[in-house]
Amino acid sequence: MSKIVVVGSYVVDLTARTPHMPKPGETVLGGPFRMGPGGKGGNQAVAAARLGAEVTMVTKVGKDLFGEDAIQNFKKEGIQSEYVQQVEEESTGAALIAVDDSGENMIVVSLGACGTITEEEVLRAEDAFREADIILVQLETSMAAIETTITLANKLTKPVILNPAPYQKFPEELLHKVTYITPNETEAGLLTGVEVTGEATAQEAAEKLIAKGVETVIITLGKQGCYLQQTGENNGRLIPGYQVKAVDTTGAGDAFNGAFAHFIAEGNSLESACTLANHIAALSVTKHGTAPAMPYLDELHKQ
Ligand code: AMP
Repeated sequence: MSKIVVVGSYVVDLTARTPHMPKPGETVLGGPFRMGPGGKGGNQAVAAARLGAEVTMVTKVGKDLFGEDAIQNFKKEGIQSEYVQQVEEESTGAALIAVDDSGENMIVVSLGACGTITEEEVLRAEDAFREADIILVQLETSMAAIETTITLANKLTKPVILNPAPYQKFPEELLHKVTYITPNETEAGLLTGVEVTGEATAQEAAEKLIAKGVETVIITLGKQGCYLQQTGENNGRLIPGYQVKAVDTTGAGDAFNGAFAHFIAEGNSLESACTLANHIAALSVTKHGTAPAMPYLDELHKQ
């Protein structure tokens, strides 16, 4: 069984359908409302756990209804929540999502407690890090949490995946310390200045990231799949995606990252882990929602 530590966000997704997006100052009578677990960290933890990984989540939520719900949800998914702290002074993070009739969305994410994770709070999970095969972190939390996670993983010589999402500026020396970086097209563009639209531009961006010190670059390319390149290679390669009827692509990147962490930790080759992660992410876009849409291992074998 693979053992993964995820350090990152938990937010509750509050989604309302709307006939059109409100203008500033306008109130629109919306359609159906849905509430569910979200946040890139939580989603990636669920993706890995549903594939059979032993996942430990490190995050912070409020002592409120959403915080209780978060802990229940982690338990339900079989995710170790010993390092999910509940605090009085912050509220649980929330994403306010409006989706209009054309499928376009507008999102305000208020990270709340998970945006204030401190160095000490990450260090408290050192035992879990020590036991883990791999560490997974995103940019949807405090910079202190991100830097401490990467430094601690290095100290314990554990491989670490940085999913640079959503993009925010971070100290460039961290690129020397991560084993894998997994940007999507937009994030790869923001990291390198190369407008990534497909294989050729992904190669250009991957080379720049390798020159900045990352060991292995995986740029996700939506339905095209992902582009994989390692240090020391002249050329990377496109690992093609799976053709499916997509109904909701939100959370595809989270499905990919959780699945990649699991399959690489299980000892698969880089190519196989990318192929399997493409497959899991493709299955996730055939369902609505983020965490609830994460596939189980048997869905992969049914294909
Ligand atoms: P993205 O964040 O859009 O690059 O998507 C992450 C991963 O999800 C991609 O690398 C694909 O493996 C998968 N994916 C995203 N969109 C689709 C789609 N429409 N059809 C199949 N797979 C997809």
